[in-house]
Amino acid sequence: MLIFINEKFLTCCLVFNIIVCARKMKIWKAQRKMKISKRVQDVPPSATLAVTSRAAELKAKGVDVIGFGAGEPDFDTPDYIKVSAIEAIKAGKTKYTSSSGIVELRTAIAVKLEKENGLKYTPDQIIVNIGGKHSVYEAMQAVLDPGDEVVLPTPYWVTYPETIKLAGATVKVIQTDKENSYKITPSQLKQAITEKTAMLVLNSPNNPGSFTYTPQELKAIAKVLEETNVYVLSDEIYEKLIYGDTKFVSFASLSEDAYNRTLTLNGFSKTFSMTGWRLGYTAGPLEVIKAMGRLQSHMTSNPVTFGQYAAIAAFGDLADRTIEKMRAEFERRGKYMAERLNSIDGVQCTEPTGAFYCFPDVSSHYGRNIKGIKINGSMDFAKALLEQANVALVPGLPFGCDNNVRLSFACSLDNITKGLDRLQKWLSQ
Ligand code: PMP
Repeated sequence: MLIFINEKFLTCCLVFNIIVCARKMKIWKAQRKMKISKRVQDVPPSATLAVTSRAAELKAKGVDVIGFGAGEPDFDTPDYIKVSAIEAIKAGKTKYTSSSGIVELRTAIAVKLEKENGLKYTPDQIIVNIGGKHSVYEAMQAVLDPGDEVVLPTPYWVTYPETIKLAGATVKVIQTDKENSYKITPSQLKQAITEKTAMLVLNSPNNPGSFTYTPQELKAIAKVLEETNVYVLSDEIYEKLIYGDTKFVSFASLSEDAYNRTLTLNGFSKTFSMTGWRLGYTAGPLEVIKAMGRLQSHMTSNPVTFGQYAAIAAFGDLADRTIEKMRAEFERRGKYMAERLNSIDGVQCTEPTGAFYCFPDVSSHYGRNIKGIKINGSMDFAKALLEQANVALVPGLPFGCDNNVRLSFACSLDNITKGLDRLQKWLSQ
């Protein structure tokens, strides 16, 4: 018995000693505190992804969640594009290419920009990036320095402020209002510009606002900029998804001055339903595109090789018909969603003229207590709606508009009907 106790005691001592030694030698994992750079410490996860993942969690538990969070078309990538990627793989297009993208694709993009947007760029003035998000990141890195200010109108896509800050620059927000359809006015812009202003970010058609600037409105903005050295990052990724009698115009096509200061950003994700292919592009002044190219050569190298060949094919004969089918369907859904939202007490929604979102003002419900949850803003609104009525939408706060919430209509009409029934019932309690 005595021997047994002693053995147990000795084993405990041995384990204790091993732990103490491991801690001293700093190989005890729980004790390790590795650092995260100051630069990245403040970067929040994407707000749109946070809602989608909570909705997925509930779905996995068997809850019937209606999702309005999607930032991508619910259509498959067209077959003709898929086939060309498969052919490219079979033909051995599986090796590195020129880091800024193959010249054939940059030429095809140049042809598209001239034909559809009235913009003359040489292939050297175009870089193919790993999605539009990467284009935004590289553009900010290429032209911004610490101390610079970037004018960013609300509502803004969540990636802009983070990429501005990562480049060391400061975000200067222009708060817009629903009376002006969330668009900036020339006098607001004039007031926001200082000698530190290095860039204005324009996104039309807009995510999340789904408004589109008219050519006249853009001309007025271009006029304000004429006396400045301010770059314009014109994010035109939703250019093909416009509704009613909306006219799309590329900012750089407005004048020679606009052309010289603009980085035109576009991509394949929305137009061709190719979100997973990660293909975006930027066209602009040669020096800026060269700078982005140098950065890209160390950062990622080329976009996926066979994807680049598929992207050339995407511009082919079937493009217009394919895009039109998707656009018409989005138009039908957007009209219906906006009508339904406006029929709900205390909800105000402008009809989308582009992209695939509704961005209603729901602030008249703030201050209410719904089933024991006090709704103090868009975060509470989205959280309570998801937990209590199983409808997932995105709060407006991370887009700079706490009065609003974003609902994507990149989902079936059935889904929209069911989700809005639930929203209406939830708000009418
Ligand atoms: N710009 C805007 C306004 C967007 O909404 C998105 C996608 N959500 C992008 C750029 C980037 O798209 P991607 O990286 O898929 O090309």
